[in-house]
Amino acid sequence: MLSSKKKYVVNSSSGIKAQKQEFNKRPTKIGRRSLSRSISQSSTDSYSSAASYTDSSDDETSPRDKQQKNSKGSSDFCVKNIKQAEFGRREIEIAEQEMPALMALRKRAQGEKPLAGAKIVGCTHITAQTAVLMETLGALGAQCRWAACNIYSTLNEVAAALAESGFPVFAWKGESEDDFWWCIDRCVNVEGWQPNMVGQISVNVAQKILDDGGDLTHWIYKKYPNMFKKIKGIVEESVTGVHRLYQLSKAGKLCVPAMNVNDSVTKQKFDNLYCCRESILDGLKRTTDMMFGGKQVVVCGYGEVGKGCCAALKAMGSIVYVTEIDPICALQACMDGFRLVKLNEVIRQVDIVITCTGNKNVVTREHLDRMKNSCIVCNMGHSNTEIDVASLRTPELTWERVRSQVDHVIWPDGKRIVLLAEGRLLNLSCSTVPTFVLSITATTQALALIELYNAPEGRYKQDVYLLPKKMDEYVASLHLPTFDAHLTELTDEQAKYLGLNKNGPFKPNYYRY
Ligand code: NAD
Repeated sequence: MLSSKKKYVVNSSSGIKAQKQEFNKRPTKIGRRSLSRSISQSSTDSYSSAASYTDSSDDETSPRDKQQKNSKGSSDFCVKNIKQAEFGRREIEIAEQEMPALMALRKRAQGEKPLAGAKIVGCTHITAQTAVLMETLGALGAQCRWAACNIYSTLNEVAAALAESGFPVFAWKGESEDDFWWCIDRCVNVEGWQPNMVGQISVNVAQKILDDGGDLTHWIYKKYPNMFKKIKGIVEESVTGVHRLYQLSKAGKLCVPAMNVNDSVTKQKFDNLYCCRESILDGLKRTTDMMFGGKQVVVCGYGEVGKGCCAALKAMGSIVYVTEIDPICALQACMDGFRLVKLNEVIRQVDIVITCTGNKNVVTREHLDRMKNSCIVCNMGHSNTEIDVASLRTPELTWERVRSQVDHVIWPDGKRIVLLAEGRLLNLSCSTVPTFVLSITATTQALALIELYNAPEGRYKQDVYLLPKKMDEYVASLHLPTFDAHLTELTDEQAKYLGLNKNGPFKPNYYRY
């Protein structure tokens, strides 16, 4: 049984938690009943490809040229159409059901506000799940201003719902590059309001303009460097963004503490492995209506994402080949029953090619030339670099858009390959990401913000930190009631034997899960 007595109480010397607070309680079973309704529904309600209820395609006026006010008379926002708020609110309510940990944090925040006084400027995908995060941060006492980190992924209805409930949101689907920076600036450059925390995902899956290193932090550095005097910390979720923070730190240019949420165990394992295990099938199915049984698939890269994709396809009866450069991951693939091959060896025969390496030019024009007719090519890994799509933009090849996010590229002899999402991330472009997975990441972000905001002077220096393991464990424990999972508690004798505190952390930092 989960014991409410068992608390992750933190004192300032532990380096983990800041305040004696209700947050340290183990989760209760809140929301379990209501969750059961949404388990299946929510998978179609999340992320960027979620259908828009309100067709606003007729309205070509740029939101920047519109005068809009919410029902309380505020115009401190810029969204596509504030009238869509009611639809967005429904999306948010559905997402709430699959985000039990954030809802638990809100419940526990009724008596105290660990983010009171926090002024958070955020730049993430604007989706129903982000809305649940933002409203949780609001419930914890923070003021938030938010922009989109991606010009395509904003759900206009959700942005409208946030604006209606008083959040200054600056985002709409289909922003131009200029709009994008304008929105970020409107979040940061406000009279009488200065941020003291930054939360962001600077991965920009569908967007070339940011691959050169631009993001919210970068913008503040460039335009308003003095702001950093007041900023207590940055929470970063993306691989690219974290990489950039480490570079800044190495160059001695990072002037505030930063929390690397991307590498917390709860993010890595759940977002990369479990999320991709589900969304690879969703993305392929929605775009191609294909049947997986008996199909030959090659998955490039057997890291977390590759493992998820392989497991899902194997379960569907596909014949799965794996390519790897690392002998350890290669051996894992072999032990899991996959044939390890070089891409060249199978490229002529496979029905589907999936890249998951985080690398570039894994699938080259030479590979594309050799693929068989109707071969499906897609990317689940990094940005849009893994497949050399640029090499397909040559005069002898014809591109035919057959569906949204589906192109047939046709060779002079009539052979065609099916390219999904123009080589960008399949699941983010063409399917939904399970809300429950996003819940884990969002909870990690919320706790990282609480930790950095409340940390006493000197606990965190101008460097990049991982979330303390105890907090990672806390994030996981907040999600267990959803499954009516009963965690075993160590006896005093066992704790002594293992040399552990009964309340965790339960593993050393080097443990690999
Ligand atoms: P990882 O490092 O665990 O795995 C990548 C694997 O690819 C490694 O084992 C590496 O050895 C292998 N590899 C590298 N170059 C290769 C090549 N040329 N041929 C074959 N194998 C090669 O990383 P991961 O956690 O699996 O993430 C992979 C990528 O997916 C990253 O870019 C990450 O940002 C991205 N990602 C995508 C999603 C999504 O929703 N689609 C989610 C999380 C992460």
